[in-house]
Amino acid sequence: MAHIHPTQEQTNNAKVPSLDLAELYQCVHCGLCLNQCPTYRVTRLEAESPRGRIHLVKAAADGRIELNDRFKEHLQLCLLCRACESACPSGVQYGRIAETARELIGPPGSPLVRRILNFVFTQLLPYAGRLKLAFTLLRWYQRTGLQTVARLLMPAKLRAMDAMLPAIPAKFFQPTANTLPAIGPRRARVAMLNGCVMPLLFGDVNEATVRVLRRSGCEVIFPEQTCCGALNIHNGEQVAAKQMARKNIDAFLAADVDAIVVNAAGCGAAMKEYDFLLRDDPEYADKAKRFAALVKDAGEFVAGLGLVGRLQPINLTVTYQDPCHLAHGQKIRRQPRELLQAIPGLKLVEMDGSDRCCGSAGIYNLTHAGMSQELLKEKMRGVGAANADAIVAPNPGCMLQLRYGGKTYGPQLPVYHLMDLLDRAYGEVAE
Ligand code: SF4
Ligand code: SF4
Repeated sequence: MAHIHPTQEQTNNAKVPSLDLAELYQCVHCGLCLNQCPTYRVTRLEAESPRGRIHLVKAAADGRIELNDRFKEHLQLCLLCRACESACPSGVQYGRIAETARELIGPPGSPLVRRILNFVFTQLLPYAGRLKLAFTLLRWYQRTGLQTVARLLMPAKLRAMDAMLPAIPAKFFQPTANTLPAIGPRRARVAMLNGCVMPLLFGDVNEATVRVLRRSGCEVIFPEQTCCGALNIHNGEQVAAKQMARKNIDAFLAADVDAIVVNAAGCGAAMKEYDFLLRDDPEYADKAKRFAALVKDAGEFVAGLGLVGRLQPINLTVTYQDPCHLAHGQKIRRQPRELLQAIPGLKLVEMDGSDRCCGSAGIYNLTHAGMSQELLKEKMRGVGAANADAIVAPNPGCMLQLRYGGKTYGPQLPVYHLMDLLDRAYGEVAE
């Protein structure tokens, strides 16, 4: 089987990964994925389609083309939304191809942007304390008025990026104990991923998730853990990502739980694929398989376990955004909808193209703002036509993007996580 040939710079760069994937040879070029691909739909260019990108990677693997800037741009304009996987009748796992190729080409952007991203991936994300300090500084930047002054001095591009920065909450999430008991009879013992950005930007969602799990009869454990590494993996940084995966595997397997529950779709998809990430690691390959089998999306897990008791009504019409890494990455579409429909008074209306990427895609909305905004505008048109009172999107990236989309293009609707609404439906409980 062929390998991608690295550039001289990469060869000189010590550790060079190779692409040795059966997936690369499964594509039969039928083209059924093309119209499901957001970047193809916008550009109508073969090189910006899944089939075109697979062809490029295969040509590079066969040594017929160089890993030059044009090759990189085609690979990096991909959102890694994996809509092509849902459409593919041959079962091509495009995500594996793209992630492995990106390991060779590294993060997107200018040399300066790449250095900044590498710093974030290797020096911030794996360290919860440093990340918390960075978000504390950001909060200070926003609340002292420094942001208002700084925006006046910023170049337009930086100002646009700054405008996407959400308001940093006054309080970060910290579990009140490492083990939280089930409320009522215990039905399961689960460990929860706290996440890197979730406790800092969506602490209320983590609190809601803990309450929903406990009300559903789960004892909830928070092992000593780290970021899942999804952002690293998607952007070609796998050294720190593998270290994070090993740390999480050790911590969560030692907790001896029935499931590892994750309330962020991108993180859940990455953790379910630790076995692929660590496939060449003799010490961790088997452990990673055991770990991956335990990982469950929060909605998937609660739907499987079943809600407990009578739910309070929520009189609201909502439309559901399928996060790409839930619908396409984890094949989970039915369970969140069933949970929403179990809430009395709540009406679910479908938007057109609910499983089309909103353009968030990790840091894609920052690195490829033009394409991201095109997709967001289309998404907001679908939201508007659905005529709902609120949007439900169980993934932090989608929630931020849809809130920004509402502010910028309308309609400005509340954006909830599925766990927010289940928590409300469970109502107050005396412990
Ligand atoms: S992952 Fe998404 S953007 Fe990338 S090729 Fe597949 S459908 Fe297109
Ligand atoms: S649908 Fe699958 S087999 Fe067909 S072109 Fe796309 S990736 Fe290849």
